Amino acid sequence: MDSVTLRACTGSAFSLCAGSAIRISSTSGAQVVDFWAVNPADPDECLSMEHTRTSLSRITPRRGDELFSNRRRPILTMIEDTSPGRHDTLIAACDPERYRQLGVDGYHPSCAENYRVALAAAGVRRSGIPSPFNLFMHVPCDADGQLRFLPTASRPGDYITLRARIDVLVVLSACPMDIDQPHFAGHRPRPSDVDVHVIPGTPG
Ligand SMILES: [Zn+2]
Repeated sequence: MDSVTLRACTGSAFSLCAGSAIRISSTSGAQVVDFWAVNPADPDECLSMEHTRTSLSRITPRRGDELFSNRRRPILTMIEDTSPGRHDTLIAACDPERYRQLGVDGYHPSCAENYRVALAAAGVRRSGIPSPFNLFMHVPCDADGQLRFLPTASRPGDYITLRARIDVLVVLSACPMDIDQPHFAGHRPRPSDVDVHVIPGTPG
């Protein structure tokens, strides 16, 4: 099992063979991790939150659920989740425009930039940024459709494990969000490291 520390505010790509898995652990319990998956053999195919929600008839995948691509086929399975299961599939990746809206003057790292850099470093070319699977991000939707941005519900060391059903390139970003925002209900995210383990599949 290969273990890597994904430093706070950074991103990285991980190649998974079909049958292998990736375990993402929030060391602090408070860190959101943006998660993408791209088919390196056909980069137009990627993990799609909208297709996953349609297939599951749920906003948020649970342990045992498959995650679907924009070609409507399952490409990953969530095999473990020790957290309370609060993850987000609705919110776009943070990007330079978002930080400018929030009043940041000058450079600020972002999940969108981390995605672009990690994908390019892996030698995969595709345009646009898919909607991420925002692990540990807690944004419940009320009955009237109101979204509430709440602190993560995960605890230190909680992890989620996803098994690849095809050969897939996973891109992770330890979200650099650290801005006070009114809709964050008074809490300010503190970026922290993320532990990542790649777990080989069983041959044959
Ligand atoms: Zn982010």
